[in-house]
Amino acid sequence: MKAVVVRKPNEIVIEEREIPEISASQVLVKVKAAGICGSDVGIYRGLNAFATYPRVVGHEFVGEIVEIGTRVEGYAIGAHVAVDPVISCGKCYACRSNRHNVCHSLKVMGVHQDGGYQEYVAVDEQQLHLLPQELPWNIAATVEPYSIGAQVAHRGRLSADDTVLICGAGPIGLIILQVAKMKGAKAAIMDIVDSRLEKAKAMGADLVINSRKADVQAELMNFTQGEGASLIYEATGNVKLLKQCIKDFSSAAGRVVVLGFSKDVLDICQLDIMSKELEIIGTRLNNHRFPEVIEWFKAGKVDPAAIITHRFKMEDAEKGFAIGKEHPEDTLKVILTF
Ligand code: MN
Repeated sequence: MKAVVVRKPNEIVIEEREIPEISASQVLVKVKAAGICGSDVGIYRGLNAFATYPRVVGHEFVGEIVEIGTRVEGYAIGAHVAVDPVISCGKCYACRSNRHNVCHSLKVMGVHQDGGYQEYVAVDEQQLHLLPQELPWNIAATVEPYSIGAQVAHRGRLSADDTVLICGAGPIGLIILQVAKMKGAKAAIMDIVDSRLEKAKAMGADLVINSRKADVQAELMNFTQGEGASLIYEATGNVKLLKQCIKDFSSAAGRVVVLGFSKDVLDICQLDIMSKELEIIGTRLNNHRFPEVIEWFKAGKVDPAAIITHRFKMEDAEKGFAIGKEHPEDTLKVILTF
C-alpha cells in the first residue's frame, strides 16, 4: 500500500509499505479521504513542536472497515467510520477528570504516531465513530475539524447570549463562526484576507473586519455598544493579537479562548485580567465530540461543503501541502482522496 510520509521537515514522499496487522481490539480502515490541517503543514515545514519524524501525517481521516479484530463488537465490514485521532492513557489526572484530550501521555495519530495519509490504517475500537453511509467522503473528512468547533464551544460556554469575536477566518475560524451562528450568538470575525471575510459574510457573520484596513477595536466597540466581546476565539496564533484580545477586545466577565500554539512569549497586565474577571481558556483537540458533530451533519446544522476548496489525490499530497502557501486567498480546507 501507499503512504504519505514526511521523512523530515520539507521532505514529503510516497512510500510503499506493508498493510498493517490489526490486534484483537482493532479494525483495519481503508482510508477514503483525509483533510490537510494547518498543523499538518506545520509538521511538513518543521514548525510543529509536538511532531517527531519520519511521520505518516493526517489526523482528519475517514474510511471503510475492511477487517475486524476478534474482540471488536458492533461494527460490520463495509461500515463507514470517522476516526478520532486522540489516544489517551485513561489513568492520569486529566483522563480521570474526563479531559482525555490533554492526557499526560497523549498520543495523536498523525503527530506522535502514524496517521491517516495511508491506504490502510489499524485503528482501536474506541476511536471509531459510525458515519451515515450516504455522507460523501470529502464532507465526512471534516468531522474532525468540526470536532474542534464543538470543543471550543464547550470550553468557552458559547451560548445565544454571547457576542463572539473570532480572530482568523481560516477553516477553523469559519467552523467556529458556523457553530456560533448555529447556537444563536452574534458573531464578528476578523482576518487580513478579504476573500475569506466574504465567505464569512455568506456564512452569516454579523460583522467582518479586515484588520489590515480597519480599526478593529473601534469596529468592535461600535458592534458591542462599547462593551467588548463576551467570548473571543484567538485562532491565528499571533500573541500580539492575543494580548489585544485580553486588553482591548474583551468585555467584563468575558472569556478568551486560546487555540494557537505559538511559543512566543506574551507580556500581559494582571489588572486587565483581574479587573474584568476575565477567563483565559486553553483548548486542545477534542474531548469525545465526534458523536455531537455527526449529529450536526445528519441534521444539516452546519455547512462543511462551504469550507472545502480543493481536492487532490493522495499521490499529489505535496501539491496539497503547497497550495495554501501559493494561494492563501482562495485556499481553505484541502482534502486528499484515496
Ligand atoms: Mn486538524
